Amino acid sequence: MESEKNRRLIYSVLGVVCGIVVILGAMKLFLGVTCPMKFLIGLPCPGCGLSRAFELLLRGKVEQSFRMHPFLIPYLLMFVMEMFFRTKHEKYAILKNGYIVLVVVTSLIFYCWRMKHFFPKQEPMTYYENNLISKLRLLR
Ligand SMILES: [Zn+2]
Repeated sequence: MESEKNRRLIYSVLGVVCGIVVILGAMKLFLGVTCPMKFLIGLPCPGCGLSRAFELLLRGKVEQSFRMHPFLIPYLLMFVMEMFFRTKHEKYAILKNGYIVLVVVTSLIFYCWRMKHFFPKQEPMTYYENNLISKLRLLR
């Protein structure tokens, strides 16, 4: 029973990861960018740089990964907590939710700081000139 649950969980995780890879690949191929916000309005979103940071982490370039997006590891930890440590203990749920709120709030504050100090001159905080809004303006 437990191994069936674990097998389903592993297949679910693999399905989500494959889905993300396919969607990002299709967006890069057809739209030129992997970020929906950059595609629409040209501005980077709070998650910009996460996929590049993940790629760098997989290659073992931990420092470069951290520089690309310091919140990758806290987000991964959040994902691992959600997927593999499901329990009905109230104390754990409070701790987990507190952690999620802390990571999301601090990453939004970090995004504002990054926009102020690095936009638009440093990757991934760059402006995408070929965005949909500017294309629509050119049509008028
Ligand atoms: Zn983005």
